[in-house]
Amino acid sequence: MNDRTVNQAFQPILPGDVPPLRPTLVRGEGVHVFDMDGHRYLDAISGTFCVQLGYGRADLARAMSEAASRIPFARPWAFESAESEAYARELLLAVGAPYTRAVFTSSGSEAVEAALKAAYLYQRTVGRPDRTRVTRLKGHFHGSTIQALAMTDYRARRAPYEPLLAGVPASVDPAEGSALEESARQSCALLAETIPGAGLGVAVPPPGFLGRLRRACDATDTLWIADEVLTGFWRTGSLFAWQRLAEDEGPGAMPDIIAFGKGAGCGYAPLAGILIRDRVASVLEGAPGGRFMHAQTYGAHAVSCAVGRRVLAATREEKIQDRVRSLEPRLRESLEPLLRHELVSDVRGVGFLWGIIFRQDRGTGAPFERSLRFAERVEARCREKGLLVFSGSGSADGERGDHLLIAPPLVSESHHFPQIGSGLRQVLDELHRDMR
Ligand code: PMP
Repeated sequence: MNDRTVNQAFQPILPGDVPPLRPTLVRGEGVHVFDMDGHRYLDAISGTFCVQLGYGRADLARAMSEAASRIPFARPWAFESAESEAYARELLLAVGAPYTRAVFTSSGSEAVEAALKAAYLYQRTVGRPDRTRVTRLKGHFHGSTIQALAMTDYRARRAPYEPLLAGVPASVDPAEGSALEESARQSCALLAETIPGAGLGVAVPPPGFLGRLRRACDATDTLWIADEVLTGFWRTGSLFAWQRLAEDEGPGAMPDIIAFGKGAGCGYAPLAGILIRDRVASVLEGAPGGRFMHAQTYGAHAVSCAVGRRVLAATREEKIQDRVRSLEPRLRESLEPLLRHELVSDVRGVGFLWGIIFRQDRGTGAPFERSLRFAERVEARCREKGLLVFSGSGSADGERGDHLLIAPPLVSESHHFPQIGSGLRQVLDELHRDMR
């Protein structure tokens, strides 16, 4: 064992495989990262859906060092910090009415949990303390801390911890009659990914779906929490994905609480949180025991909030929203030809967020058996070729159903997209050949 192997987490893909060494990344530039052996990778997944503005950004590094030099820390229970106050103001302005309160955390999982706490406290304050359940949806992913995982319906991630997660009501399939409304009636909140990513492979909801969530919540006095951790920060061509989808839905289909993370800090600093709309925020101001607080030591950290502010400014300066919308067709054109591949059953997405769904059998469309870990093999083979993608499973029946997520940095140039499409095609051809 040498210096390199001692700290490596080995992850054999199939039993008996030689465990690959996880490359050690040492540098990034634009949309590429480099490992210590000098290999270059095209990052088609933005780190993990977060490095929206790319690597090697001097402006973001400068924002961090300047904030840390001024004052790195202000105890969240006792003080505001200039950076967090300014970031809250600027972010609320960016999302627009009716959102009036921001609470910051360090991760998306914590943001989801803060949203659940706020929703319950709201119900308690308005006289519904028995609303302790949460309605959660089939296949949706919400994070890795215990409660966020308990809300998650992604079998591969839950399985080892199932006994710890007991007692949480089953997830609801919104396609099943009135199950959604029945569950919502007993819940403090309805928690939903706006576009389910990791577990369902970018299942863009049909027009009208968000309106249905809104009406179900209004009819049952339940709060709609939109989990926008993966879909937020212009990933789909608007600040949040519900805003993009609402363009086809008409006004009104807006959530009560938005949970965000990932792209807020662009991979440069941990930054996440929730945005609360006025009518919920004003109730929370009068909550028993005082104003709603979710104060963790590093929540609303000055360095993270300084990055968040610079991300908002840079996004405006670089017209990132327009860029995502105008390049979306180029990305689509590079990925859609994969639909003709034997092993691909669907290619779908919006903005810079795309899902590729695999099938084992072209005739029946049947998914691969999970034990083959097909998506993981595609991801590993892509990485060997210098292309970073994200594998997931469960999109067919909770367990089976292999898929990939593609989510390039929002600063990608159109010439990067054909490289993603052709890299994937090559890998699929190779794996198809191996199978025969
Ligand atoms: N919600 C969604 C939709 C996510 O995709 C993720 C992370 N993949 C989370 C929550 C959790 O975020 P974090 O990893 O920052 O805790």
